This record gives sequence, C-alpha cells and structure tokens, in this order.
Amino acid sequence: MQTYDIATIEGDGIGPEVCRSAVAVLTEACGSRRLRFHPFDGGAAHYARTGEVLPDDTYAACKSMHAILHGAAGLPGVTYADGTEVGNDLHLQLRFRLDLFANVRPIRLYDGVQSPLRDWKPGQIDYVIVRENTEGLYASRGGGVNLRGEVATDTLVMTRKGVERVARFSFDLARRRQGAPRDGQRRVTVCDKANILRTYAFFRAICDEVARDYDDVQIDYAYADAITVHMLKKPDFYDVIVAENMFGDIISDLGAGTVGGLGIAASAELGERHGLFQGAHGSAPDIAGQNAASPIATILSGALMLRWLGEQHQDDALKSDADRIEQAVEAVLAAGETVPRDLGGRATCTDITAAICRQLAG
Ligand code: ATP
Ligand code: MG
Repeated sequence: MQTYDIATIEGDGIGPEVCRSAVAVLTEACGSRRLRFHPFDGGAAHYARTGEVLPDDTYAACKSMHAILHGAAGLPGVTYADGTEVGNDLHLQLRFRLDLFANVRPIRLYDGVQSPLRDWKPGQIDYVIVRENTEGLYASRGGGVNLRGEVATDTLVMTRKGVERVARFSFDLARRRQGAPRDGQRRVTVCDKANILRTYAFFRAICDEVARDYDDVQIDYAYADAITVHMLKKPDFYDVIVAENMFGDIISDLGAGTVGGLGIAASAELGERHGLFQGAHGSAPDIAGQNAASPIATILSGALMLRWLGEQHQDDALKSDADRIEQAVEAVLAAGETVPRDLGGRATCTDITAAICRQLAG
C-alpha cells in the first residue's frame, strides 16, 4: 500500500479552519496510514510575523511531496515595505514556481442545495471550468501607468505553448471525466473574445488545432459575454469549458453562484508534476475565527486531490475514496440537518466536519 505525503499550508483568515476540516475528512475517508499530512507555514500573517511569505522549507516540501492542500492566503492591511499588499502572494508564488497551469473548477449542483436557477435539479448541472492559470491578462507584463497618470495599460500575453497545454489538458479531461452533458456528447467549449482581440483569436485557433487529435470530443465556441447567459439558461449543455485566465476567473465565480456559491466551489491547480488543492474562495477575513465558514469547498478540493493522486499513481482505491467523500457531502446536504450558513443554515464549520465524518464512518 502506497503512502502519500501531503504538504498542508493553512494560511490566513478562514484557511486554518477549513484546512483542518478537510484533513479530518480525508483522514476519515482514507485512514491515517495512507495519507500523511505535513503542516508548513506561509501566507500574509506569517509574513507579518517573520518577513517571509513562502519560506524555503515550505516551498521545498511543496515541490517534493505528492500534493499540496491549502486553506487560503491573504489578509487585508498586511503590506510589504513599499506599501503594496501581500495578499495571496503565497498562492501566486506556488502557482508560478510550480507551473500549475490548469486551474480546474467543477461546477456541480448537489442534492440539498437550492440553485438560484430554480428549474435545475441535482445532476443536471455538472461541468468543469478549466482556467488557464499562468498567462493571459492577469499575468500582465509591460503594463503601467503612463503619461503622468493619465493613461494606464496592461498587456495580455499568450504563448503557443501555454494555450496548447491547457487545451490538451481540457480535451483529455473531457475524455475521462465522470458526468456528462444532457446529450451525452463529450464537449470542450472554448470561451474567448476571438471576435474582438487577436490574442483570443490565437487562443481559439490553437484550441482548434488541438481538437483535431480528439475525434470523440466536440469542440464548441462561446464568447465570454454570451457564455454568462448560456451558463444560466442551459447549464446542462456544458461538459468542459476552457478559458483564458481572467475570463476563467470570472465565469468560475458565476458558475459557483449557480450551484450554491463560494463555500461549496472546489478548485485544483495542476501542472505536469504538481497539484495544489484549495477551495475556490479566498481567506474570507470577514468571517474568520468565528467557526462560521463552510469547509465544503476545501473538503471537495480534497476529493479532487484524491482523484488526481489516484490517476497519477494508478491507485483506484484513492479514486473510490474521492467518490465516497463527494457522496458523503451530498448525503449530509440532502439530509438538510447540517446546513452551512452561506446556504441559509446555522451549522458551524466543526458541525459540518463532524457530520461528514459520521456519514463516512457510518
Ligand atoms: P480572493 O481575492 O482571494 O478571491 P475575495 O475577495 O474574492 O478573495 P473571498 O475571501 O473569497 O473574497 O470571500 C468572498 C465572500 O464569500 C465573503 O463575503 C466571504 O465571507 C464569503 N466566503 C468565502 N468563502 C467562504 C466559505 N468557505 N464559507 C462561507 N462564506 C465564504
Ligand atoms: Mg475572488
């Protein structure tokens, strides 16, 4: 039996609460001998104490261990000497230094969760957004404020290598993922603004090239503005959506909103060799330390971690543990007795953790 070493970084705000919750659930699901968690420091609060955002030993562990489980990073008011915010630099540094180019964000409606899209039932909304994570507008280079403060610019850069690898990742994912759009057709939807900007036309053209290697997966296109409407009107059409960094960020928050919000939205950031798993939300300083956060996003990210490890290491037992965690979360939500506050209930972070562990044990 293989043992997996997981570097955990609790981070800031609600990070410690939700990270500990996910560790408890993962341990319940897999047993303490299969997963070994190793806690490491980092983040904005750590910077305020020590002057370091990402300590060397944390980075070394993230690089050498099987996976990284992260709470969240960022605290308002913690700044570098030049006055700029530390924010979630911990996370950004890991993303770039480990080259985590594919940000995978499943959008799935669980039983027991009321979607603001009233006509949709559990199982009918089940798709994945793949956000390119290392280039595009958020990785703007060469921008600035010019002409004595009258003009500001940012530069949107895309590379063939960067687009090709995230496109290939998305088509591969469409081939192997569970869940399917209503018509059963495996599909990658390319979300862009190819009609307006050359960079997005380039993005689309490269996705087209990659699509030729995947006869069994349909390629589909949507402009970033139009897709915001489609995601509300026909969410059951989607399978995998691939988007440039900024568009991916925006539509994944929208997608999360359709299935219960940030407290339930999981996220995985994957590279060729490394994987970092955390909820799609930030450190939520407004509710930190109150036992009020929903740990479900981080728990479901932990399930993504197991599935990814299972694929990397041909370990089917881990994949079925991932399924069991998702089923336990769904069972707890469907029972309606332990409802997170952001879904209209009164359950605390520890209540939710205990209920999911009980469900797994039961
Ligand atoms: P970032 O810049 O890191 O994305 P953000 O500014 O988007 O962060 P979040 O920290 O994600 O902000 O929080 C946005 C809102 O969602 C806040 O009101 C927060 O309380 C709420 N929220 C985020 N995560 C959770 C959670 N796990 N449980 C409950 N509420 C949450
Ligand atoms: Mg955000």
